[in-house]
Amino acid sequence: MLRITDLVKIYPGPVAALKGVSLEIPEGLFGLLGPNGAGKSTLMNILAGLLEPTGGTVTLDGADIVKDPRAVWSRLGYLPQDFGFYPSLSGAQMLDFLLRLKGVDAPQGRKRLVDELLERVNLADAAKRKVRTYSGGMRQRLGIAQAIAGNPRLVIVDEPTAGLDPEERQRFYRILAELGRDRIVLLSTHIVEDIATLCPRFAVIRGGRCVTSGGTSEARRRLEGRVFEGIVAPDELERIRASHRVTQAVLVEGSLFRTRVQGEAGTQPAGFVQVPPTLEDVYFGVMDESRAADAARPVTAA
Ligand code: ADP
Repeated sequence: MLRITDLVKIYPGPVAALKGVSLEIPEGLFGLLGPNGAGKSTLMNILAGLLEPTGGTVTLDGADIVKDPRAVWSRLGYLPQDFGFYPSLSGAQMLDFLLRLKGVDAPQGRKRLVDELLERVNLADAAKRKVRTYSGGMRQRLGIAQAIAGNPRLVIVDEPTAGLDPEERQRFYRILAELGRDRIVLLSTHIVEDIATLCPRFAVIRGGRCVTSGGTSEARRRLEGRVFEGIVAPDELERIRASHRVTQAVLVEGSLFRTRVQGEAGTQPAGFVQVPPTLEDVYFGVMDESRAADAARPVTAA
């Protein structure tokens, strides 16, 4: 279990990036969702032992990550957002280099471990190719290979699917899903689909605060019977906005909006039909409530 309690991070400025985040993260895939600037990377860097929090505690299976990051480093794998590569090395050389840096134990020899890890992330065929020739997805898989070396208890991946094409994304999802079977995999992203595809549990952070957390299917179930969809023209959308809680308006073929509203059954706009709630509905609903709560809060308390 990864336990985060009252975590605060204030950067010089001052910028309050985390304003007291508490979360309990069990084994399996856990999604951390939030818009850009929400504080996700700050949280990931603290969990990876790379950044000191201003306040609060983090424990992994009882061991304190903040007080003694070195003690948990060997049980931790991290794929940061801006993972650096040496383009003129081959995939195998790059991985070998990273394993040496990390000080990973390889009782059977590092060459063997490199081969095993490349196999695991489906890069065995590209082992000798220069990293320069790798696609974005292949680079991310190489990043995962170094993160899982040494079989860590906790794997942290920060925005791993940004920039991947749909096929690469699916391949990457399969690798993460497999990893989540017997360890904690913490996936930070602003892409709701990543979480919906992979994570039975999730949290949303916004403005340095956790605004919701729990099971993904329960969160969807709570919205059952309260989400309605219709396709409307722009002027109609504006009228609906004035009287309903519009949580999504997606342009269709450049002229109409596929619009979703949330509210009590019977109050939906004419022509709107009830639809099964998605995680996007949950996310947009929570963000909407959180923004409304901010607007209602006195400025001095913000
Ligand atoms: P996310 O990963 O969700 O996009 P970040 O954790 O990167 O969010 O950033 C959270 C907030 O902290 C943002 O307002 C960002 O501008 C600020 N921030 C991040 N890093 C620093 C830093 N080193 N110094 C000052 N402010 C920072």
